[in-house]
Amino acid sequence: MSDKYDVIIIGAGPGGYVAAIKAAQLGLKTACVESWTSEEDGKQVLGGTCLNVGCIPSKALLEISHKYEEANLHFAEQGLEINDLKVNVGKMMERKLSVVKQLTGGIAGLFKANGVKSLHGHGRLLANRQVEVTDQNDKKTVYEADNVIIATGSDPIEIPPAPLKKGMIVDSEGALEFDEVPKRVGVIGAGIIGLELGSVWNRLGSEVTMLEALDTFLPAVDQQIAKETLKHFKKQGLNIELKSRVTGTSIEGDEITVKYEDAKGQQELKVDKLIVAVGRRPHTKNLLAEDSGVKLDERGFIFVDDICKTEAPGVWAVGDVVRGPMLAHKASEEGIMVAERIAGHKPQVNYDCIPNVIYTHPEVAWVGKTEEELKSEGEAYNVGTFPFAANGRALAANSAAGMVKIIADAKTDRILGFHVVGPQGSELVAQGVIAMEFGSSSEDLALTCFAHPTLSESVHEAALGVHDGAVHIANKKKKK
Ligand code: FAD
Ligand code: NAD
Repeated sequence: MSDKYDVIIIGAGPGGYVAAIKAAQLGLKTACVESWTSEEDGKQVLGGTCLNVGCIPSKALLEISHKYEEANLHFAEQGLEINDLKVNVGKMMERKLSVVKQLTGGIAGLFKANGVKSLHGHGRLLANRQVEVTDQNDKKTVYEADNVIIATGSDPIEIPPAPLKKGMIVDSEGALEFDEVPKRVGVIGAGIIGLELGSVWNRLGSEVTMLEALDTFLPAVDQQIAKETLKHFKKQGLNIELKSRVTGTSIEGDEITVKYEDAKGQQELKVDKLIVAVGRRPHTKNLLAEDSGVKLDERGFIFVDDICKTEAPGVWAVGDVVRGPMLAHKASEEGIMVAERIAGHKPQVNYDCIPNVIYTHPEVAWVGKTEEELKSEGEAYNVGTFPFAANGRALAANSAAGMVKIIADAKTDRILGFHVVGPQGSELVAQGVIAMEFGSSSEDLALTCFAHPTLSESVHEAALGVHDGAVHIANKKKKK
């Protein structure tokens, strides 16, 4: 077999491994280079950030900690009595690892089944679509391809006032590995990672304080939804301090002192663990030879056009390493688009219909425009909202916090934004994504029959509410 491929992919996260499987399914001779190596046995690890230290392990801990919180705080009010409920962090971590291993092993199986050649080592793009792979023994091999897809992902940002210290000042990866429930946890950044991982440890009993530099909570989220969310997080005991910029940290024994500035001046916070969750940056370290032809943009992302083409012919890039939201499903959609384009098809990713989810409880999920965006664009719109407090299924499940909010164009009634804070928001938002992909109006959803009793009836009612027709709440008269 020659070392020339139709496609070589660098990186086996949800962007790279999905592109590799799709390319092979389309009949292309495909190889995927991945450098991740297991500390346990030195073997290659597939799945990238998402499966190993991101989406999956965080969701495993969110699910387990939510069950604990339910049992600990809310079973008794529903007539269930438990005596001796305990947290066993070791067992919890074992469970998390077994889910991760099952999924990463599954990718290896899919590569085999589809005939993707897996290359273990560090990939570097040379000129003319040549890829140099350096293996564990520093042996370099150069492969050639007609097309190269870069899918090397991202790394957590470190900030000078809070340098990482193993087991004490940690990034998201370290925060998924505490071996006991810390008494006091500090989090720098009240973004998605901060809220999800802060919630895990708060539910398990830590006192959690989050320091957020901005004065607006979740600025990318519709602010009616963000305000409702903040109210519930505060009730849960998450202490979220806005307008608080961290200026320094020091460690003495087992205690971390965090210095920060807020509206009142210099403040100090003492914690046992500190999670730094201030964003992620594209991973391009030792990736591009000077003559590779690939350019970076001003923020260090690989520069691509709207179909993920770089400036070098035959070289594409997808996922966290390029512009756009850093989300696993966005990476995978781009990977599929590029594989199909290489095979001669003409698909396009619809960047207007990518859902976002924060997997807290209640879950926050949205697709499309917020009211703030539409206002700033000068668009006229109508809004329908429906609270889960008026939804029978949510009440029966003892999970009635939050609402569904649908925003539709005032003239055409086309749905422009779909927002949820509430139970199963991550699942409900798919209805908004499908509706928007199909160009639906709010009336289309209002005319649809939804099963009773379901959380989805809140989607129906919010759609009815766009034209003041909700049945199970009193409709407010809209100002003309
Ligand atoms: P990655 O998954 O980062 O994969 C890149 C791969 O490339 C890695 O395996 C890396 O080892 C490899 N690599 C890099 N350079 C080289 C090289 N030169 N040679 C060979 N291999 C190389 N997103 C969601 O949509 N939903 C979630 O619930 C969610 N939760 C998250 C929770 C956490 C704690 C974190 C940190 C992230 C989360 N994300 C979530 C974001 C998600 O993980 C990323 O958007 C996604 O992994 C990006 O996929 P990717 O393929 O672009 O990159
Ligand atoms: P983020 O951008 O969501 O939040 C970082 C927060 O840190 C911001 O609010 C920022 O204002 C704040 N911040 C920055 N510097 C600060 C400082 N010095 N002091 C105090 N606050 C500061 O980033 P993240 O939470 O690290 O997540 C990174 C990426 O990972 C996100 O873009 C997201 O797309 C992805 N992710 C997605 C999911 C999901 O889909 N559920 C989950 C986790 C991560």
